[in-house]
Amino acid sequence: GNALGAFLLHQRLSEGQIPALLPLTQAEREHCRNRLVGQVAVITGGASGIGAATARMFTRHGARVVIADIQPSLGEKLLKELGPQAEYVECDVRKEEDIEKAISKAYELENRLDVVHSNAGIIGCVGPIDEVRIDEYDATIAVDLRAAVIAVKHAVRFMKPQKRGSIVITGSVASVRGGMGPHGYTVAKAGLLGLVNSCAAELGQHNIRINMISPELVSTPLAAFALAALAEGGSQSVTVDDIDRIVKQNSMLPDRLLTHLDIANAALFLASDMGGYISGHNLVVDGGKTAAHVLQA
Ligand code: NAD
Repeated sequence: GNALGAFLLHQRLSEGQIPALLPLTQAEREHCRNRLVGQVAVITGGASGIGAATARMFTRHGARVVIADIQPSLGEKLLKELGPQAEYVECDVRKEEDIEKAISKAYELENRLDVVHSNAGIIGCVGPIDEVRIDEYDATIAVDLRAAVIAVKHAVRFMKPQKRGSIVITGSVASVRGGMGPHGYTVAKAGLLGLVNSCAAELGQHNIRINMISPELVSTPLAAFALAALAEGGSQSVTVDDIDRIVKQNSMLPDRLLTHLDIANAALFLASDMGGYISGHNLVVDGGKTAAHVLQA
């Protein structure tokens, strides 16, 4: 079957019967563009880093985007860049009423809610497990895990009646690997996997998909905080150059750094109908690192 098919195809290709690279039709070209035209998305933590990159990507693909964050000055700056397709809503994800407000605001733009990207995050406390301060641990869980549960709850309240929607959650390689020291962060990010698993089948019945993206280290204020906290108990400051050097050292792909664009591409794929049959998935964006067990010779 397959082997014979492959052989025959190879024979036809080598005889020049099929051009090796078929030119794309107009419809196929369009398939890669404008994936979110007329759609409405909310991005928590959208004023900075990965969230801002996703806001750029979603607006570029035609969506109206509500950026929900607690950094109004960064939010306003981003709005200037993105133009009338974007809105900023002050939203502290530790408060259910703020998340509800941001999601309702998005819905009211076009009477629809297509994408909710729960992305806001903090590193929280870093240190040995026997020194974990439980109040700090609780504060980390509130932003990194509890807020995602609230975002899913309110997203689904709008998505169920319209019988469609896509939820994307920013996890981390810390969702599947530990050993960095920020215990609250690692526990929260692993918990997000549980959230995705526990909702996928239930939401599937309503034509709502839920997925996670799990990036490796990429240069953002959060990454700088994490690296500074890990370096000598936080006494050293970390520059963008330091992060780039560390990202490079850790890269699986020679001469190729993980960028915000790589992560935004993954978010777009899962958010849009390109990922239309994908739900309950954790898309790790790390060049293969977590899959590998690399032995140093
Ligand atoms: P970032 O610091 O650039 O962005 C985080 C955003 O979340 C900020 O805009 C911040 O204001 C917002 N935020 C924090 N607390 C909030 C709250 N209570 N309410 C509303 N917004 C709040 O960092 P980033 O790296 O872009 O982080 C985005 C997500 O990516 C986080 O969930 C993070 O865990 C995840 N992540 C980052 C990396 C990395 O290397 N940078 C790797 C894996 C996962």
